[in-house]
Amino acid sequence: MSERVVAGGRTAGLAPVLAAAATTVAVIAWLAAGRPGGVVVGLLAGPVALLAGTVACQRIGSMIMLPRPVRGFWRRYSHAGIVLLIASVVAIVRHNADPGLSIFVAAPSVLGVLMAMSAYGYLPLGRRGPLAWARLLIDGATVAVCGALVFWYVVLDLGPAGTPQSTRGGAAGVAVAGLLALVLIGAAVMSPERPVDPLSLRILAAGPAVGIATATMLVAGGQTGRMWLSPLALPLAALSMAAAAYRQRRMLGRPPATRSPRNRTAHGALPLLAVAATAGLVVTVSLEQMTARQRGVIIGTVLIAFLVVSRQLLGLRENRRLADSMRTQQAELEKLAMTDPLTGLANRTRFGSVLSERLDSHQPVTVLLIDIDDFKMINDTMGPALGDQLLYQVAQRLRNNSAVRELPARLGGDEFAVLLSLDEAADAEDAAARIQQALAEPFTVGEHHLLANASVGVAIAGPGDGADEVLRNADIAMYAAKEAGKAAWVRFEPRMRQEVVNHARLGSELHNAIIRHELFLLYQPVFDIVTGRLHGVEALVRWRHPVRGLVSPGDFIPVAERSGLIVPLGAWVLREACSQLAFWKGEHGDGAIEAINVNVAVRQLREPGFVDDVAAVLSETGLLPRNLVLEVTESSVADGRQVRETLQALHEMGVRLALDDFGTGHSSLSLLRAFPVDVLKLDKSFVDGIADGEDRGRLAVAAAVAQLAEYLQLSAVAEGIESEAQLDRLRDMGYRLGQGFFMARPLPAGEAGALMAVPVLPAA
Ligand code: C2E
Ligand code: MG
Ligand code: MG
Repeated sequence: MSERVVAGGRTAGLAPVLAAAATTVAVIAWLAAGRPGGVVVGLLAGPVALLAGTVACQRIGSMIMLPRPVRGFWRRYSHAGIVLLIASVVAIVRHNADPGLSIFVAAPSVLGVLMAMSAYGYLPLGRRGPLAWARLLIDGATVAVCGALVFWYVVLDLGPAGTPQSTRGGAAGVAVAGLLALVLIGAAVMSPERPVDPLSLRILAAGPAVGIATATMLVAGGQTGRMWLSPLALPLAALSMAAAAYRQRRMLGRPPATRSPRNRTAHGALPLLAVAATAGLVVTVSLEQMTARQRGVIIGTVLIAFLVVSRQLLGLRENRRLADSMRTQQAELEKLAMTDPLTGLANRTRFGSVLSERLDSHQPVTVLLIDIDDFKMINDTMGPALGDQLLYQVAQRLRNNSAVRELPARLGGDEFAVLLSLDEAADAEDAAARIQQALAEPFTVGEHHLLANASVGVAIAGPGDGADEVLRNADIAMYAAKEAGKAAWVRFEPRMRQEVVNHARLGSELHNAIIRHELFLLYQPVFDIVTGRLHGVEALVRWRHPVRGLVSPGDFIPVAERSGLIVPLGAWVLREACSQLAFWKGEHGDGAIEAINVNVAVRQLREPGFVDDVAAVLSETGLLPRNLVLEVTESSVADGRQVRETLQALHEMGVRLALDDFGTGHSSLSLLRAFPVDVLKLDKSFVDGIADGEDRGRLAVAAAVAQLAEYLQLSAVAEGIESEAQLDRLRDMGYRLGQGFFMARPLPAGEAGALMAVPVLPAA
């Protein structure tokens, strides 16, 4: 909500201030001009200004968006204004009969002041314990007693002898009440909760101050003082009311200012001043009216009192210093707890709390979740120190990006987040694209130039969303961006959550599937497409789901990879496939295939014990390493040092490695040099449509892969052959091995074994 909406702009509420100010200025002008009848002018100006002040307080007291106690406070002030207004009218009426301060005027005036003071009863003056209340009472009593004493001894003494008793009493009452009001206002300003704007309160303090001054002048002031102050008193007090109300209105919708410790000292000084004044008074009186001995005792007593108070003050100061340093330390600790030590950005805790605050106050919020692509590989290959430097530079770029106007944070690892105060999809996407572009520029880390793309998830907070929900949505979108091939941004849509839920359900069902033996293997033959002989088989896992029926690995393998279930699942596949080959070898002897192909996910390769597990399975099933071909994808080869070492160890053991779905990855050619590969499996997409020669690009890749394999002395397998035309064309290109529905679908073990007895290509 903008301030304008609530408060109605700068000029709203200004009229009463102007009216009160104009009245005051008019009185001053009249007095300054030395015109006679100043008192009458003042008497007439009083009610006018009071009316303005009262209206201003009454208006602010009826503003529904203010908290109830604050409204009560201002309403009570307006009631006080009405009573004072009555007093001022009475003063006009009784002016001729009673030129001094009559009881008829003094009584409602004191009542008005008391009512104004009672307004402070509406304010929660902080969470005060009994001790703090006692201190407030003692402060009030100190100031009141001192005020009364000073008034009694000094002011009344100074006044002309003929001053009527009622004037003296009334003036003393107003002065003491004014002092008490100042103590109360001080306490309200110091209140940690500060429901009423503190500057408003200070402006209001002008009222009692003027009251005290007027009461004093009325009794003790000379002719001039009286001439000036008594006509100005009411207009000034009323002006302070109007101005304070205006200030409060201007502060609507702004967060309350925090209290600075210096103000506290200033407001705590009033009772001390009172004590000092009383001491001064006692000494003065003793000098005038006592014997030397008595005077000595009195002065000694006052001195002792001073020493005790000074000692107390020193202790107080020390306490305050300690409290301040504790506060600083605490602030320091809080800051540390909220900052990411590596990058200096906000951490997850701070990001979460700011996000919650925004959501609670219904402000527009968008969260961008940024994850560095393949950071793990960079960290593994370049070492954690360089990884840290890269993260630091990413943080710098986020900080300096013009799209990031607020709170960039590092949530942990290579995950960053940005909070934006907008809720338009186009703006959010624009910001995501800009950040993504900025991060796509190469980084210079040490002497290396690194490319660190980022995947960005964009989540716009919907009504009623909590911080966790928005972060989760951004996370889901970020994963979608990763799955879409990384280096991209994706905006969250509710259907994505459903997909995640489905995956989660599938994940838990898959867990049971492994226990309940719902998985089984099919074997797709691989043929020598020149001789038509069976060359090998690829083991392909299937899931017979009790309700869904047959679930394809394309649906559950990604789920298994994400949940880590692929590790036990893959171990089972490997053991099952190897046992099956051992069985075939026993059954068909030389007619059996030489090797079996087993797919392996990158997650399995990351397991530290993978090489040992493979060796164990081979020895348990009595196979040789050359009887096993492990199929891995290009992206898994690029995963990092650990995976590369695993593959190297397998190669050295004698297990053959095949690059599956070859041609779809990013860096095929450079990988071939670094990676101990034995077999290239040309991806099905290059085989599709190869026959009619329409797609020259794919045709070229298919031909190139065959030649590459020949030069590097690798075997090449064409996958997904669905027609005779494709088969012929691939054979012409130089492919020796092929796999596809045209020759055979994935078959149960029995049917695949039968082919070993009659190794003839069905179509040949
Ligand atoms: P892949 O390793 O590339 O396996 C070849 C896939 O292509 C198999 O699908 C196979 O049935 C299919 N295919 C073979 N010839 C043809 C054809 O002529 N036309 C068509 N349209 N498709 C053909 P499947 O069995 O659904 O497996 C899909 C993917 O799931 C596999 O791709 C592999 O990446 C993964 N997968 C399957 N079993 C396992 C496993 O045990 N472990 C792991 N990690 N992944 C597996
Ligand atoms: Mg495969
Ligand atoms: Mg494949």
